[in-house]
Amino acid sequence: MMGYCSNSPLRCHHARSLMVLNQVDDNCPHCEMSLVPDNNLSGSAHFEQRFLQLSLAVTVILLLVVVYIYYAILV
Ligand SMILES: [Zn+2]
Repeated sequence: MMGYCSNSPLRCHHARSLMVLNQVDDNCPHCEMSLVPDNNLSGSAHFEQRFLQLSLAVTVILLLVVVYIYYAILV
């Protein structure tokens, strides 16, 4: 995971420098505190969120179309 050290800037130099750390175990290599995920640099997560919103919108539109057709047949 990419992220920043969540420790106090006084206790860990990684937290003080706001260095982006890439650790497989999600822990700071200096103080072993868990990392805070970095959302600004992960473009894939942003793209994933856009894709989910788009698919949700498509699903809602399809549902409305199905309901409209259902009532159009009934009336
Ligand atoms: Zn640290």
